Amino acid sequence: MDQKVRFAPSPTGYLHEGHLLSALYVWAAAQKWHLKIHLRIEDHDQSRARPEYIQSIYQDLERFGFQWDSTSIQSERHPIYKAALNKLEEQHLVYPCFCSRKQLEAENPKSETGEIIYQGKCHTRFNTQSKSIDEPHNLRVIIPDKVIHWHDELLGDFDENPKLQCGDFPIIDRDNQWTYQFAVCVDDMDEGITHIVRGEDIRSSTARQIALMQLLGQKERPIYLHHPLIVDPNGKKLSKREKAHSLRQDLESGISTEELLGKVCFEARLQPNRQPIPLNEAISMVCNNLISI
Ligand code: GLU
Repeated sequence: MDQKVRFAPSPTGYLHEGHLLSALYVWAAAQKWHLKIHLRIEDHDQSRARPEYIQSIYQDLERFGFQWDSTSIQSERHPIYKAALNKLEEQHLVYPCFCSRKQLEAENPKSETGEIIYQGKCHTRFNTQSKSIDEPHNLRVIIPDKVIHWHDELLGDFDENPKLQCGDFPIIDRDNQWTYQFAVCVDDMDEGITHIVRGEDIRSSTARQIALMQLLGQKERPIYLHHPLIVDPNGKKLSKREKAHSLRQDLESGISTEELLGKVCFEARLQPNRQPIPLNEAISMVCNNLISI
């Protein structure tokens, strides 16, 4: 069977330079490992996804000359998520959590990064006390208390226990939407993704995704690679929410795709200056950077 890597942007804003760098890594990994490329639109969060952002993902990538082999869009995949949820429910691995944001903050410890480590209050309460399912709640998955050993092609080895990092986490949120963690695991398994290449900002999700995929019956684990991010002049990562410059804005203001590629490769320390470069050279440059792996 084909080996496959995916590029999985969320249509919650226009693509920015951070996405361009991620795309370069994905396409470079495909070149290096001879992988098919799957483009997945991650619109699981329907409150933030917008049609114009979806359209612009395809358009912006095409303007740069990126080509892919297949696509999917999460909002069209409810039956697949439902079947995966049933699989967890059959194993009694899912429970409703009625805790409010305030309660979560007050009743649970936090990790070094400020993330709440859910202690499972509603897991026990669900068994002992009846609560109406009409009340606002999310659905959490029971994660085993065990260390996951995993390897990153750039960053090395990790030993992480998701139970201690975040505890049982939501797979459906209080607005009844599939969460990122759940949708991404189901998709990666169902779409036959063998290589996961994405930014370092998502690295902390990896152990919990491996744990969830094991519960969903996954046999073969994907290869992981988390690449360094471009940071703004204050050392903060670029983010759509904080209105990082969009690629679209730059292109419309007359900057060429070669100029943007040159700039991103410079900012990511892949080349020593901002010299404009065509897409195939930018991909090869990133690929060369991966060649020692
Ligand atoms: N949709 C996520 C994002 O746009 C990427 C998720 C992933 O690669 O696992 O940041």
